[in-house]
Amino acid sequence: REMGLPVTVAERAGAPLVGALGGVVGAVAADLQLENGVDLRTHVTVTALEGDSAGRVRAVHLSDESVVETDVVVVSLGSVRNTEWLTGSGLGSGPRGIACDAGCRAFDFRGIVTDDVFVAGDVARSPHALFGYQFLSLEHWGNAVAQAETAAHNMICRGADRRPHLWMPAFWSSMFGVNIKSVGVPPMGEELMITQGSLAERRFAGVYGYKGRIVAAVTFDNTRWLEFYQAQIERGAPFPVEFPTMDRRPENRQPVPAGFPDPSLPTHGPMVTLSGYSPADQQLVFHPARH
Ligand SMILES: Cc1cc2nc3c(=O)[nH]c(=O)nc-3n(C[C@H](O)[C@H](O)[C@H](O)COP(=O)(O)OP(=O)(O)OC[C@H]3O[C@@H](n4cnc5c(N)ncnc54)[C@H](O)[C@@H]3O)c2cc1C
Repeated sequence: REMGLPVTVAERAGAPLVGALGGVVGAVAADLQLENGVDLRTHVTVTALEGDSAGRVRAVHLSDESVVETDVVVVSLGSVRNTEWLTGSGLGSGPRGIACDAGCRAFDFRGIVTDDVFVAGDVARSPHALFGYQFLSLEHWGNAVAQAETAAHNMICRGADRRPHLWMPAFWSSMFGVNIKSVGVPPMGEELMITQGSLAERRFAGVYGYKGRIVAAVTFDNTRWLEFYQAQIERGAPFPVEFPTMDRRPENRQPVPAGFPDPSLPTHGPMVTLSGYSPADQQLVFHPARH
C-alpha cells in the first residue's frame, strides 16, 4: 500500500493476527489496515488461483465466490517441518516437528526419551515449564543457535551436568509504521488486560492471563514495557495485574476475553486449486482440491 498499489488481503479469521494475538488485538490490526486502504476480506479462504495462457496468475477465487483480479499473489500460511525423511525412524516426529525434552533429547514414538538423538532449531518441539509444559517450537534464528549450543553441551555431558534450553517465545512485526511486539505465549491467554495506553490510540501494552498467571504480553508502539512484562512472566506473576505505573492508567482497566479461535477447530482448510496453462508442457494444469 505504501507503494500506492491496490492490495487485497484474504483472511480466514475475523481479523489479521487473530491466531497470534487474539480477536481484541486483531480488531486493532484490522482497523489499521482498512485505514491504510487495504481491501481486507475476512472470514474467507482462497479456493483457487487462476492463470492465463502465459502461465501468469491473473485472478484469485475466494470462498465467498468473489473473484479478485491480480497479477501478484503473496502466500503467507506458516511453515511445515521437513520431517518426512524421519518416517520409520522410530522418533516422535511429524509435520509440527520432533518432540524432545527440555535438554534437546528426542523422544521416540512411544514418548520415551532417547539418549543419542538430539534436536535443535525450528524442527524441535519441547515442553516449557513456564507454559504448562506444552510442547512448543520457536522459529527464530537466535533460538536455533542457542538451542544448538545446549544440544551440543548435553551431548558431551552426563546426568546432572546437563542443562535445559530455557527460552522466551517472542516476535516483532511492523504494520504501517506501528511497531508490534510480543513475549510469552499469547494464544494460551484466556483473558487480555490493557495495562498501559489504549486500543483506540493504537499505542498500548496488554497482558494475557491464564489460570491466574501472566503468560504473555503484547505492545503496539510501546516496546519499553516488554522487558518488564517478560520478567513478570518468568516469575509467574499473578493475573489480573495490579501495580502502580508512571503512565496514565487506562480507564475501566478490566480483563476481557482475549478472543482466540477455538483450538479444536482445524488450522488448515482444503488445499487451493491451481488452474491455468503451463508453458512447460503446454498442458492445462489442474490439481483437484486435496485435504
Ligand atoms: C522468510 C523468512 C524470514 C525469516 N526472518 C527471520 C528474522 O528476521 N529473524 C529471525 O530470527 N528468524 C527469521 N526467520 C526464521 C529463521 O530463518 C529460522 O528460525 C532459522 O533459520 C532456523 O534455523 P534451523 O537451523 O532450525 O533451520 P533451517 O535454517 O531451516 O535449516 C534447516 C536445514 O536443514 C536442511 N534439511 C532439511 N531436510 C534435510 C535432510 N533430510 N537432510 C539434510 N538436510 C536437510 C534444509 O535444507 C535446511 O538447510 C525467518 C524465516 C523465514 C522463512
